[in-house]
Amino acid sequence: MQRRIVTRVAQVTALIGAAVLAAPARADTVNNATRAVVELAPGVHSIRHADAPDAFPQGNTTVVIGERDVLVVDSCYLPSSAREDIAQIRTWTSKPVRYLVNTHWHFDHTMGNGVYGATFPGLDIVAHAETARRSRHYNPGWFARFPRRADLFRQALAEGKDPDGNVLSEVEKREYADALRGLAPVQAEYSTLTDRTANVTFEQSLTLDLGGREVQLQFLGRGNTAGDAIVYLPRERIVVTGDLVVHPVPYMFSGFPSELVRTLRALDGLDYDVLVPGHGEVLRGARAHEYVDAVADFTTAVIDAVERQVAVIGSGQRNLEPVREAVQKTFDVAPWRDRFAGADPANRDFFDTTYAALITAAHAEIWGK
Ligand SMILES: [Zn+2]
Repeated sequence: MQRRIVTRVAQVTALIGAAVLAAPARADTVNNATRAVVELAPGVHSIRHADAPDAFPQGNTTVVIGERDVLVVDSCYLPSSAREDIAQIRTWTSKPVRYLVNTHWHFDHTMGNGVYGATFPGLDIVAHAETARRSRHYNPGWFARFPRRADLFRQALAEGKDPDGNVLSEVEKREYADALRGLAPVQAEYSTLTDRTANVTFEQSLTLDLGGREVQLQFLGRGNTAGDAIVYLPRERIVVTGDLVVHPVPYMFSGFPSELVRTLRALDGLDYDVLVPGHGEVLRGARAHEYVDAVADFTTAVIDAVERQVAVIGSGQRNLEPVREAVQKTFDVAPWRDRFAGADPANRDFFDTTYAALITAAHAEIWGK
């Protein structure tokens, strides 16, 4: 049920100045109701979270335990989920978490930072310099802006229209009402939380030794955001990608499609056997590599289609809508929709949203917007 409302939540949040958000694409379906923990190697675990009560998706968390230190990748969205993760970590090890890596600044990967900071006084939060900078701007304001979100939901329900003016169906009205009800407990969680952002930054790479376990943080180029970090365990052949890779439907709401392609090709050049995406199930072996290739190929195909139509349309080329219309008429997206979304209606619905966002981004990139 939540796909449409999640998308609208993202749109509403963008309206209130928080920029683009979290991908709702998760695992086999874009909605996820259950928490799941997977051991990737001895002492390396990934945690997938259920969606928040306000329909907001939550990023995956990965835990890497060394002989001396513990490193966590991404702190998810809900403080209560971060606490649950910390309780889980304590069943695995008595060592404190020494490092928390933020793969990027989006709220569904960073809002648990404060919980880790309060729990582990010696904690360093590590991120790409650009992610640290954006987190300082965007993340603390999230708490203050939160009540405004409830107002926007109420307004949509009262008017029977979403913020873009589209008339809400009965199903969508129920989705709004459910998400509105889910806001109060989430807001209550945030009311007592002190935000934390990265205090250690890097530009290209940073290698951490957890004691018998090497962890490489790498910036392979822009893609999902301007400061995407991947976390790579060379000996275990595990890579944690943040939202550069989201499964099963890629997340295309960011502004650097052609750079994303280069970044994904560089990612796939790493020697890995296990890939933890920003959302969705853990991918292994050839399936992981094929998925990354498919996302890069799809992105390339859409960029090409947009460039062709910009050339064809000529004088109207700077306006997005004629280009979008022409691309949607001429580009055969059906095989890609089947490839990523399968038969699941929510996946297919989200695929169409992410495809439209990719056209927008590819067009903007041409004109340097
Ligand atoms: Zn995300």
